[in-house]
Amino acid sequence: MLKLLLLIALVGGGLWWFARGGRRNSGAGDGSGDASARGADDAARETATGEAMVRCEYCNTHVPQSSAVFAGKRAFCCEEHRASAGY
Ligand SMILES: [Zn+2]
Repeated sequence: MLKLLLLIALVGGGLWWFARGGRRNSGAGDGSGDASARGADDAARETATGEAMVRCEYCNTHVPQSSAVFAGKRAFCCEEHRASAGY
């Protein structure tokens, strides 16, 4: 009986994992994925030149790291947004 439960748990977990992965892949294209998951993906995005992109904490706009305004570890697209965010 315990073995059967374990098997069900494994199959269920596998399906859940599979469904999660599939949803994330399809969501990345149309932009309908949930905001937090997309934010994590976007943080690692790079420009064609290989420059890292950072996301403005205020308006969520992506800007090249070199033209971003930083307040500690927080990145902003411009000085105005850094000030507006209170940093
Ligand atoms: Zn901004």
